[in-house]
Amino acid sequence: MKPISKLQAVIQCKCPRCREGAIFTGNMYALKAQGTNEFCPVCNLRFEREPGFFYVAMFISYAMNVAEMITISVAAYILGLDLVYENLWIYAGIILVGVLLFSPFNYRYSRVFLLHWLTPGLGYEPKAKP
Ligand SMILES: [Zn+2]
Repeated sequence: MKPISKLQAVIQCKCPRCREGAIFTGNMYALKAQGTNEFCPVCNLRFEREPGFFYVAMFISYAMNVAEMITISVAAYILGLDLVYENLWIYAGIILVGVLLFSPFNYRYSRVFLLHWLTPGLGYEPKAKP
């Protein structure tokens, strides 16, 4: 199998070491709750590097949330019919709905960004098998 690039591995939420195993169970927007695999199904890498490792993903998720809220509010201001001056609650509701829609995305990609870009010593090893 031809190896995929790091960007493809990030987009497809694949293991940072073998780029084949899935980090998550289930689909991002499925009704069933998604979870994180404890180990890579291909190379057996433990995704939670140490106890509490994924707490750091919470800060990444926070930064993603702020960026999304700013983007949504600017887009609502540009596209919306001056809702800010008419009813602030409509504006806040739009932002809240946007944040709720983005939350499964943030859950996944905050962990993927943490594993792929912010964890030292977790590089690509094409022949990483248990
Ligand atoms: Zn792997």
